[in-house]
Amino acid sequence: MSQDPSCIFCKIAAGQIPSRKVYEDDELIAFHDIAPWAPIHFLIVPKEHLASLYDTVPEKHQALLGKMLALAPELAREQGASNGFRTVVNTGADGGQEVPHLHMHVIGGPRPWAKG
Ligand code: 5GP
Ligand code: ZN
Repeated sequence: MSQDPSCIFCKIAAGQIPSRKVYEDDELIAFHDIAPWAPIHFLIVPKEHLASLYDTVPEKHQALLGKMLALAPELAREQGASNGFRTVVNTGADGGQEVPHLHMHVIGGPRPWAKG
């Protein structure tokens, strides 16, 4: 599984930078966003370094991407999102992606939110 030693989310996945963890298995980690927009805001992140959704390959990453999406409602419920949530995957510069390691935002909790 490829990692980028200069990547902040690779460092979080490797436990080299602390995070408030929500979930972890051999392929994925989920942790609370450091600058949440809403009462619930965490990120689901593959442990493999994939810069963005652009860097995924259909046959190779289909199961991983499906697992990320399938995990979202399970973890959202566990975190207390009982009235819905939003999933967001920013991709590349025009997509507003700031951290170049694929991640899915899961955002929920009672409104108003700071943004979104
Ligand atoms: P993007 O704009 O790339 O989709 O979102 C990146 C997200 O990662 C932002 O919401 C930002 O607050 C979050 N983030 C950036 N650095 C860190 C960090 O070191 N720890 C955590 N937990 N979240 C981070
Ligand atoms: Zn990375």
